[in-house]
Amino acid sequence: MTPRTLGLTDPLYDYLLKVGVREHPALTRVREETAKLPGVEMLLAPEQAQFMALLARLLAVRRYLEIGTYTGYSALAMALALGPDGKVVSCDIDAAIAPTARRHWQYAGVADKIELCLGPALDTLDAWLAHGERASFDMAFIDADKENLLAYYERCHALVRTGGVILIDNTLWGGAVADASEHDAATAAIRAFNVAVHQDRRVEMVLLPIGDGLTLARKIG
Ligand code: SAH
Ligand code: CA
Repeated sequence: MTPRTLGLTDPLYDYLLKVGVREHPALTRVREETAKLPGVEMLLAPEQAQFMALLARLLAVRRYLEIGTYTGYSALAMALALGPDGKVVSCDIDAAIAPTARRHWQYAGVADKIELCLGPALDTLDAWLAHGERASFDMAFIDADKENLLAYYERCHALVRTGGVILIDNTLWGGAVADASEHDAATAAIRAFNVAVHQDRRVEMVLLPIGDGLTLARKIG
């Protein structure tokens, strides 16, 4: 049989969490608190957060841009991974989440490394591009509304430096992308995005089956 990625049974996933992940207590706290909220399924899987954090360290990321903050879990994972001169800029449209996210960042002692930009992310990104922020980030993470995925990707491609990486979450969308009976707008947008990034010669890419599917796209010169 050709080698392929394992499907994870519950016992195997529990085992992976036990020996494969070292979650910072402040991150565990965010997950436990967020578990009481309706949007808890939007959180990153711990192994994915740790993978992204390690990737950021491998790339010596100093400026990290994120679209989709929610309760601040992914931003916190990255802030804990970046060095003292590292900066996380996270965008969200929902002002109601801000106090919760900021409280978690303060508890972990990294609030000064994270800037939260409230408003529609496309407006925020376009404003930065208009103000000379082109190629100023080392890594970007796209994890917000799926209908705008391609638009976010294009902005991030401009905002990330050559050799930098754009990470796109939920690119397997619970399997719906490969289910011909699924026709909703988010699924269609993710499918269109997946084809576009696969054909985009400006990047090297891979779609990893971690979490809900994570695409890595490295900007080439
Ligand atoms: N990255 C987070 C989860 C983000 S959930 C984590 O793993 O911890 C997706 C977020 O995208 C939500 O908080 C939602 O408010 C935000 N969002 C949705 N539409 C948006 C838009 N147009 N601009 C910015 N943020 C948006
Ligand atoms: Ca997500």
